[in-house]
Amino acid sequence: MGSVGAKEVPVLLSPEGLRIDGRQLNELRPIRIQVGALHNADGSAFVEWGANKVMAAVYGPREVHPRHLQQNNKAVIQCKYNMAAFAVDERKRPGLDRRSQEISKVIGEAFESVVFAEEYPRTSIDIYIEVLQANAGTRCAGLVAASMALADAGIPMVDLLPAVAVGKIAGKIALDLKKEEDNFGDADLPMALVPQSGRLVLLQMEGHMTEDELSQSLELGVQGCREIYEKMKQALRERYATGPIGGSA
Ligand code: ADP
Repeated sequence: MGSVGAKEVPVLLSPEGLRIDGRQLNELRPIRIQVGALHNADGSAFVEWGANKVMAAVYGPREVHPRHLQQNNKAVIQCKYNMAAFAVDERKRPGLDRRSQEISKVIGEAFESVVFAEEYPRTSIDIYIEVLQANAGTRCAGLVAASMALADAGIPMVDLLPAVAVGKIAGKIALDLKKEEDNFGDADLPMALVPQSGRLVLLQMEGHMTEDELSQSLELGVQGCREIYEKMKQALRERYATGPIGGSA
């Protein structure tokens, strides 16, 4: 442990270039994706990504609530991201806060660019993301889970949306930050990619980095998204080879 003022900060990168959990800079945490985890939703998925545990459920296309949001030419995509009070070490205040509103908005907008919403005018496609355990990168885990849930619900999309956060730790660009890296690192840059077109549909940044580091981060993040994309496709293949988890309702 090194120390900055009174605060103990962990050594984020060993002399051998390994991270706190032994990963290389370009290595993802382990990811497990289960498609079709809930019976009552039209589509659902459970994602365990490092120490993150995230459930996504999709309902629709269905009647729009509240009614005034209805659009005559397309479906509205409504996303609700929520982090459970018990999802973090120190109990978080339950309920809606600014952070969850912002994350819901950016995730919903990301899906607006891939879902064929025009095919379902005057309806709503509702995406619920529940973070049950959080360890940084939950918006990315939420995007992955929601993509799988949308696919499970049979909603037509241009593509799935793999997502990952890249960051800067101990002066180096690193893929898929975990909590300590996010807390004590210099920057955090979540992104979501449409793999077929190579377009980024979500890109946010906290912290600071140089222009060169930003280019390097984008390259590493896109590569990470493509790796996650393969796992997402594999999870869908597994789901439809074995049937719903826990049998039919
Ligand atoms: P993301 O989870 O997408 O990385 P943030 O960068 O906002 O989003 O959060 C990083 C991590 O910080 C979260 O995954 C979670 O582990 C933790 N965290 C976020 N909000 C809170 C909170 N209100 N209380 C405690 N921990 C939190």
